[in-house]
Amino acid sequence: MFVAKMRSGKLVNLLEEEVEMLRGQDFYCPACEGEVKLKAGPVVRAYFAHVTLADCAQVWAENESAQHLGLKAALYRWFQKSREGMLVEVERYLPELSQTPDLLVNGRLAIEIQCSRLSVARLRERTRTYRKHGYAVLWLLGRDLWLDKRLTPLLREMLYFSENAGFYLWELDLARGELRLKSLIHEHLRGTIACMVRSVKFDSVDLMTVLRSPYAAQPLTRLPVKSDKDFQAYLTQQLHYQNPRWMKIQENYYRAGENLLTVDLTGLQWTPVGLNPLSVKFDGLPEGQFLQIPMSVRSYYQDFLRYNQTATTAVYPPAFYRDYFANEKSKL
Ligand SMILES: [Zn+2]
Repeated sequence: MFVAKMRSGKLVNLLEEEVEMLRGQDFYCPACEGEVKLKAGPVVRAYFAHVTLADCAQVWAENESAQHLGLKAALYRWFQKSREGMLVEVERYLPELSQTPDLLVNGRLAIEIQCSRLSVARLRERTRTYRKHGYAVLWLLGRDLWLDKRLTPLLREMLYFSENAGFYLWELDLARGELRLKSLIHEHLRGTIACMVRSVKFDSVDLMTVLRSPYAAQPLTRLPVKSDKDFQAYLTQQLHYQNPRWMKIQENYYRAGENLLTVDLTGLQWTPVGLNPLSVKFDGLPEGQFLQIPMSVRSYYQDFLRYNQTATTAVYPPAFYRDYFANEKSKL
């Protein structure tokens, strides 16, 4: 942590103060009031650490990594370079929530730099606590949480959504000094993912503008996707090994007097996250509810399926499908 309380009650922020001036003094955690020690060496960035962690409910009670400290400092500086009038606070303790966001922007937007895995239950609780008290929360993901070939249950709950970017996530890369937007995230029936990636170097442009970019007006992107010709074989194998997800879907087909393995599967293999076209036929459209997304994405699902009646060779942002059907209606 970078912020601690002095005996006088004054808060010190290591990202702003001269560390040498602070040596030899006593410091306390703003959240739990427990004693913290100033750690500063020639190589290591200066930070505060609890003497005993027992009573502190704060995130850094889990021992903040060098990555977390580095990213927090980098983003703080990046925000400082932003347009005037932006109030950015580092580690502002919010007693009514018992939470300390890494950064708090304009007193309302909590920025959480998440470097370690946490349980889905804990993520839900923290997200809902912020929201209940009127804060928006933006989760930015450290190395261990970067999106790889599949969406983990945790990442599913970290997804954001906009009409122009579809499902998206933010990643922070300390080694490269960049913030990455992974947008237009789509899932293959096999569970693998496809997405667009855009990297922005720290300090290169206004940070708030970058963070708002999924909502900004922009040319619509197009992401080519390829159908998997061996998918039938894959499915046969999954059913052979009794994969519960596919067994459940096959059961629906059996009940309707059909067989999943005889369905033409060359077409709709790539879909928006949370939509399995093979289940829609029996279970209807999913509700399209996600933890970080305030509205339902059901109408996006609906437009996507309506547009892609046969085979999908490319996917587009939700705005593309919305506008397509809006234009079609206006032609009538
Ligand atoms: Zn504490």
